Amino acid sequence: MKRYFIHTFGCQMNVNDSLRMSEALSKMSYVPTPEPENADLIILNTCSIREKAEDKMLSALGRYRAVKASRGAILGVGGCVAQQEKDKLLKKVPYLDFVFGPDNIAKLPEVISRVQDARERVVETAFVDSEEYVFPRADAETSRGKVTEFVTVMKGCDNVCSFCVVPHTRGREVSRAFPEVLLEVADLARVGLREVTLIGQNVNSYQGGISFAQLLLRTAEVPGIERVRFTTSHPHDLSDELIEAFRTQPKIAPHFHLPVQCGSDRILKMMRRDYTVVQYLERLEKLRAARPGIAITTDIIVGFPGETEEEFEMTLQLTEQVRYDNQFSFVYSPRPKTGAALREKDWGPVPHEVKVARLERLQKVQRRISGEYTQAQVGLDVEVMVEGRSRYDATKRFGRTPENRTVNFDGDAPAGSFVTVHIERATPNQLQGKQVAVLKEPTVAPLPVELTVPLHVPAEA
Ligand code: SAM
Ligand code: SF4
Repeated sequence: MKRYFIHTFGCQMNVNDSLRMSEALSKMSYVPTPEPENADLIILNTCSIREKAEDKMLSALGRYRAVKASRGAILGVGGCVAQQEKDKLLKKVPYLDFVFGPDNIAKLPEVISRVQDARERVVETAFVDSEEYVFPRADAETSRGKVTEFVTVMKGCDNVCSFCVVPHTRGREVSRAFPEVLLEVADLARVGLREVTLIGQNVNSYQGGISFAQLLLRTAEVPGIERVRFTTSHPHDLSDELIEAFRTQPKIAPHFHLPVQCGSDRILKMMRRDYTVVQYLERLEKLRAARPGIAITTDIIVGFPGETEEEFEMTLQLTEQVRYDNQFSFVYSPRPKTGAALREKDWGPVPHEVKVARLERLQKVQRRISGEYTQAQVGLDVEVMVEGRSRYDATKRFGRTPENRTVNFDGDAPAGSFVTVHIERATPNQLQGKQVAVLKEPTVAPLPVELTVPLHVPAEA
């Protein structure tokens, strides 16, 4: 038996791709190891959304070079940096054995055989045409013992946001046929999963035979599934039908991640986001009317080229006005071949220290608002789906509320149960409390608690 280690960077798509890689490797008699020092094969599944993510992967590659030297491990790079750099990466990193893009995961066994047997250095980064693309089918057994899982509903992106590298690294949008999605969800439910998150770069433009709203409704009807989530949505495709689904189907969890990116119409236009702040707010108002109490989260970029102080303050105002539950905020990072990077000089780059200062101001405001939301939960009884052992304290359990707030609590309910937790304390990022009632038992016999946190595939933003 040979051992493999996958180091995952970036978003949920990458985490999911790493799981598909693990499945492909297990069919080749590879077994996972949590320690890269003991691995015979190391794969870095990379992210190129921001320069920092790329830098992190280069420094990790440097660390794994020693493992290659000491035990002759094979070293490969997959994901978005692989797709972006292709054979240039092999030239740049002479000790690297193979490079493969996100569309080439199914070829992984063949690639590894070529490296092992023919001693070739391999590059596989062709995009597969939409008509020919086959979504790798997840093996539900890999997810046994888990409670929640991601299910891919589409890949790629047809939008042209001027800051974003995704259309270059993930290719054109392809939707997965809805019966395939529902079959995968049903398989997962059969091994005890209670929640699924449907994922894609822009799930609202799903075209797999039914609308995305209908896909959510059909997913919610799969026996055993209690909560349905999804990510990510582009505001300009957020339909009334989807909003209506939140009104009618309580299993669609009351959380909506709706990236706004910034609070200025001029910058939104330069970003090519195709909506105005007023249109965005109108959508949110409808959503909140359809599902009162729904948690709203977002993504924000500060320091986009040409962003003035006043325009940044519009983002602060929007944050106060919407009162996001949480937000992921980033300093603008120019990416190769993107519209904004090509025009950055004309539009006026924002100095790095100004970007960082703006990010800190924004995050301070958001921390206060997030803290106000979580403090308001203290003293309440909330519904929690138990996911397993707390990562901070092995004597406690960990789970999430329907709004996707993290809860660490004293209790004994096994993973897969739904319990009521009385909230006693809160920080901006998590709630703490004690289990006061069991609402629903798991659907399959639970694994011992020490097995309910599956082998961790580390993901770094
Ligand atoms: N498809 C999603 C959408 O349209 O909102 C976004 C996916 S992207 C993986 C996640 C987030 O990364 C974006 O919403 C954006 O805030 C951020 N991002 C993308 N490109 C960036 C860049 N060049 N610099 C900084 N942040 C960036
Ligand atoms: Fe990137 Fe825009 Fe596509 Fe999101 S919608 S992945 S930000 S191009």
